[in-house]
Amino acid sequence: MSTNYQEHYLDWVRDAFAMEKQAESMLEKMAGRLEHYPDLKARIEQHIVETRQQQDLIQSVIDRHDTSRSVLKDAMGKMAAMGQAVGGMLAEDEVVKGAISGYVFENMEIASYTSLIAAAELVGDTEGVRVFTTIRDQEIAMAEWLYTHLPDVTEQFLVRSAEPGVEAKK
Ligand code: MG
Ligand code: FE
Repeated sequence: MSTNYQEHYLDWVRDAFAMEKQAESMLEKMAGRLEHYPDLKARIEQHIVETRQQQDLIQSVIDRHDTSRSVLKDAMGKMAAMGQAVGGMLAEDEVVKGAISGYVFENMEIASYTSLIAAAELVGDTEGVRVFTTIRDQEIAMAEWLYTHLPDVTEQFLVRSAEPGVEAKK
């Protein structure tokens, strides 16, 4: 396969690493803020653990391919732009908006890994295919959890909002 394929592939893998760094900081902020939504907080904390494992997995793919260039080179640059656009929404200080933004972010991750899996196949990186499929499964599970629980979070928010002196938004 042409080296051009390899270059794009490695760039995208680096982008994925940056995306997961972004994800970690956003999820940490959200989990750290939540007080009255223990189920959501627990699921986010579980995903923070997964996200850190994802970073290690991605790093291993980078290490196998990148022998000369500095690993972190511009990884934080490009994808950060996309991550921050979505991540800005995740910084919402209200739980319902935060959960919606989380769902959007997970779906961006699902799309990114779907593309990466195709690229890994095209460059013949079998291990990469395995890694990105594993990660994508975790993103799908997180997206589905948020999708399933959004009605509950919304209801809890509204119930809390209706009670005098009860904080609802976090
Ligand atoms: Mg992720
Ligand atoms: Fe994720």
